[in-house]
This record gives sequence, C-alpha cells and structure tokens, in this order.
Amino acid sequence: MSDLIQLLPDHVANQIAAGEVVQRPASVVKELLENSIDAGATTITLLLKKAGKTLIQVIDDGKGMSPTDARLCFERHATSKIRDAKDLFDLHTKGFRGEALASISAVAHVELKTKQEGEELGVAIKNEGNTIVSQEMIQTAKGTSIAVKNLFFNIPVRRNFMGGDKEEQRHIVNEFKRVALVHPQISFILYHNDRELYNLKSSNLRQRIVGIFGAKTDTKLVPINEETDILTVKGFVMKPEFAKKRRGDQFLFVNDRFIKNDYLNHAIVTAFEGLIESKSYPGYFLYLTVPPNTIDINIHPTKTEVEFDNKKALYAMLRATIKHSLGQYSVAPVLDFNRDASLDTPYEFKDKTPQKPQITVDRNFNPFKDDDTEQMNISKPSHSNFKKTRDTGNWESLYADLESDIAKTDTEQNLFDTELNKTPKTYQIQNKYIVSSIKSGIVLIHQSAAHQRIIYEDFLSKLENENGNSQQLLFPTKINLPKEDIGNIYAIKSQLEAIGFVFDEFTMEYIMISGIPTLLSESELETIFEQLLTDMKEELPNATLDYKAKTAESLAKSVCIKTGKQLNPVEQEDLVNRLFSCTEPTVSPSGKLTFKTLTLEQIDKIFKN
Ligand code: ADP
Ligand code: MG
Repeated sequence: MSDLIQLLPDHVANQIAAGEVVQRPASVVKELLENSIDAGATTITLLLKKAGKTLIQVIDDGKGMSPTDARLCFERHATSKIRDAKDLFDLHTKGFRGEALASISAVAHVELKTKQEGEELGVAIKNEGNTIVSQEMIQTAKGTSIAVKNLFFNIPVRRNFMGGDKEEQRHIVNEFKRVALVHPQISFILYHNDRELYNLKSSNLRQRIVGIFGAKTDTKLVPINEETDILTVKGFVMKPEFAKKRRGDQFLFVNDRFIKNDYLNHAIVTAFEGLIESKSYPGYFLYLTVPPNTIDINIHPTKTEVEFDNKKALYAMLRATIKHSLGQYSVAPVLDFNRDASLDTPYEFKDKTPQKPQITVDRNFNPFKDDDTEQMNISKPSHSNFKKTRDTGNWESLYADLESDIAKTDTEQNLFDTELNKTPKTYQIQNKYIVSSIKSGIVLIHQSAAHQRIIYEDFLSKLENENGNSQQLLFPTKINLPKEDIGNIYAIKSQLEAIGFVFDEFTMEYIMISGIPTLLSESELETIFEQLLTDMKEELPNATLDYKAKTAESLAKSVCIKTGKQLNPVEQEDLVNRLFSCTEPTVSPSGKLTFKTLTLEQIDKIFKN
C-alpha cells in the first residue's frame, strides 16, 4: 500500500490555525491593538466599517517595520518578540506566538503600511489569503497602519456564522475597553462607520475608567492598593450601592492581560458580602501583578483563562484587600470597628418603611406572681467591651435556676456560697474539670473549653478595638513557610497586628516577627502558626469566613489551658470568675459546652431511694 501521510500546504495550515485565532472581527481588533502596543505606540486609532466585517483598520505611531520585516511578519511563527523558549518565562509583550498576522491574512485582505523612525520612505504591502499581491515604497507617517478587509472572504461558512452588526460591535467594543483599560497612558480613538465612539486621551487609570464609563463613574470608585511580594493589587471597585442586577463592568487583569476567573471573581464578590443584595454584581477594575513564573503564561491567544500556582493564597489576599478598602472608605459600615454593627439596618430592610410597634396585652399578667424576678437585674462585671446585643444563650437560665433570695443580689460572685469566706470553693478533678458549689447546686466546668472561651473573647475585644499589647522579642524570630501558607497568614495580617503581633518582614518564603501579643510566649510561636494555618486552610475558601473571629478562635485554641494541667486554687477561682464574665460563657468558640450545672433537685433525684 502506498504512503498516505502528506504535509499540508502552508495556506491550508494557516487557514486551520486562523480558525483558532480569528473567531470574529473582535479577535482581529484585539491582535492588531496588541501589536501596536508592543510596538510602543502612544496613539492608536481604530477604524471600523460594518462592525468590522468590511473594514478593521488600526493605525499607530509605534516603531514601524523595515521592508524585510514587513514581508516577514505575515509568515507563521514570525515574531520579533522572543528568540528562544526561555524568553517565554520573561515576557514583556502581548504577543509572542507570531501567529496573528499569518492567521488574519489567511482569511482576509490585508493592507499594511509601515515606516520606521528616520526613514525617508515606508513600505506598503497587500496580502490576500496569505499571498503577497503587491509591494511598493510609499510616503507614509512613522508607524504602522494595518487594514483588514473582507474578513472570511474565502470561508463562506465562517462569514455566515458571524453575528449581526450590533453583536459584533459589542464584542469589538469589549475588546477595545479591555485593552484601553490596561494602557491609560496610550491614547485610543475608535470610529465606527465614520462616527467617533471613543476618544480617550492619555491619562491615569482613574481618568481612563471615567473616560470609558462616563463622568458619573468618578464618584463611584473606591481605590484598591496593596503590595506584597506574591501579589500586587491595584485599581478600583465600585461602591456597593452601584452594584448591578446584571453582571456588568467586571474587569480583572493579571499581569496586564484581561482574564476571566470564576475563582478570583468569587473572592472579589464575597468581599462585598452583606453590603449588596445577594443577586447583584459589584463593578470592579482590578489589576493583579504576580511573579510571571507563578502563572501559566502559555495562554492561547483567544482564551482568557489563566492558571495560578498558589490560587488559594491569592483568593484570601484579594478578598481581604477589598474588604479592607471598602472598610477604609467607610462605605462598609459593618466593617467599621468603632460602630456597633448591630445598630445598622440590615440591607434588606433599608428601603422599607418601619412598622409601628404592636402593643399586645398579656391578660394573664399577675403583678404579684414571681415578684422577685422583676429585680433580677444582675449586672455583669465591667470587663465586657462586647456588644450587649449578643445572644447570651443559656447563660440566663443559670439565674433562672436560682432561688429568689439570690436573685436579689447584684453580682455574680454571689452566685457562689460565700458563707465561709469570700471565695467560692473550687476543686479540680483529674486535671480536667473544675467543680464549684453555687446556691442552687453545683457547677461543673470543662477547664480547657472554658479557658478557650475566655481567651477568645479577650482576643476578639483586642481585635475590635485594635489595642492588643505587644511584647518585643529580644531577637526577631524567623518563621519559614511555603508560599501558599504565607498567603494565608497574609490574609489575616491586619488581625494579627491588631492583637499585638509585629512583623518586621513579610516575604514570599518567610516572615520575621519582632513582637508578639503579651498573652503568648515565644516558644509557642511555631505551634501557634501551625494551628492558624490548619484552621485557615479548613475554612478557605469559605464565603462566610469571618477573619477576626477565626483568628481569635485559632489563637485561643493554641494558647488555652489544656486538659491535664494542674491548677492551683487561685487559678481555678480566676478561671471560674472570668468564664462568667464572658459575653457567651456557655460554649467554647468552636461550640463545645464549657459548663453544666446540677441543681440540688437533680442531685436529690440521684439519691432518691
Ligand atoms: P506576535 O505579535 O506574536 O509577534 P504577530 O503575527 O502579531 O505575532 O506579529 C508578527 C510580528 O510583526 C511582530 O513580532 C512584530 O515584529 C511585527 N508587527 C506586527 N504589528 C506591528 C506593528 N503595529 N508595529 C510594528 N511591528 C509590528
Ligand atoms: Mg501579535
């Protein structure tokens, strides 16, 4: 049998490749604009006829091409941007595959005019379906003009599959915006059917956004700025009240490329949680910069997906950064530490008219029944900076169990039998539980769970008031961590600082700590960070993650008194008193029961018979 395999002729190969690169007029627009940017243009003009179906022309004032390069640029894999494979890891240009012009000229009539700086004459070349049909020397301005006419002239199927003019125009304008948003310093002008649609002057980013989206946008923007070794985030988010019902103006760029990434989008959107209605979309213009070797750069020309090495860390950082900025610009009252969040109207009720309180009469009310409970106004020690509005859970029931003579008293100390001396009697059982007698019976306390609760509330209060005391370390401690873990710690950096941590350095490989909260000891640092990381990882990406609470919980878990620790009477007493000064003494932050009371009645029952 004869051999069957043949090499495809170039023009067929190019047409097949073109099918991938050139999907619609907008793809041509993107490639041409990017070439002009790579050529160092300061002004780029885009002319369209019939949504690009009959003409797409890009004129730039960039560096131009020599006559030889002008011929070569239509060849497949002809590029001036990389020389060998290692250049791929240090890309500074938009293009590098050398495919765009070859693909475009395979499926259209292309007219190229170009001249380099300082040359008398430039060159004009016509290329139709990958065949050069003419070449001449001409008078022309410095820079390059490429006109793409009659797109898909030789592929009727493709021509028929193009959308209507409106649709194709929309795609083009989207590409145009994406490119213009990354290069505010370059002037962009767009004409469609001789009408000027955009005339964007060289400007800064904010002015560029306003230039594209209208003057009203200016007051809607909240700046985002965060710089670390792993990630730089710049740009703006729209204030929450301007969130839209339809996914509108969401622009995410990574290393100056527009990308779509559901994962990072989720991080951004959840930073708005509680500030926007659940089915609305916040606007954003965010520019991330990551080290080029941490993303997959071999991006297909028409694809906008990117893969990141350490995406969990990026997620956490991005979300934390935006939350923080929203808080700083006080567009996020619930994030304002100095205000009581419980006083804010929940979003769903904001626009509703308040209802008049209903008066209901309890006809069974008997003023003489349970007289004493009226005065059961037991105040809690002044420790609590906490919001009194918090659910106090079962704690109140501890009072309810009490006999009325106790209920009249006004401090919790009196919960305990104080006949013999002023301190309640406590006993430690198996280095695990503490028992104490109270008027109504006994209380059994789980020492570790109880102490976790105490420390947790203490940390949380420091976090909310940002007044954690710090002890300076004699020598700064270096903690080495993998990149991803650094990201997770970074996400709670401001929380850790509020509690009393002082970071000297925060790099991709390690952190240097020169101060720690007074409650902690230096020898515990490693364990504390291990615990923090395990807890953070478990929670990420968790839309409802409350970093403050989580940090406090995790630290409490590391430093609390553990089961097995012997406590002297003073320590036992202290633990009991502090537990009952907590806002929510009944459970540990992770939900474990901290104490249980046994009433005399219950004890009596045990001994009946
Ligand atoms: P790539 O951009 O991947 O290199 P292209 O097919 O888009 O591939 O372009 C091929 C080459 O043509 C580029 O590397 C560049 O040298 C040259 N070129 C294309 N457009 C321009 C332009 N507007 N100004 C100057 N040179 C250009
Ligand atoms: Mg290119």
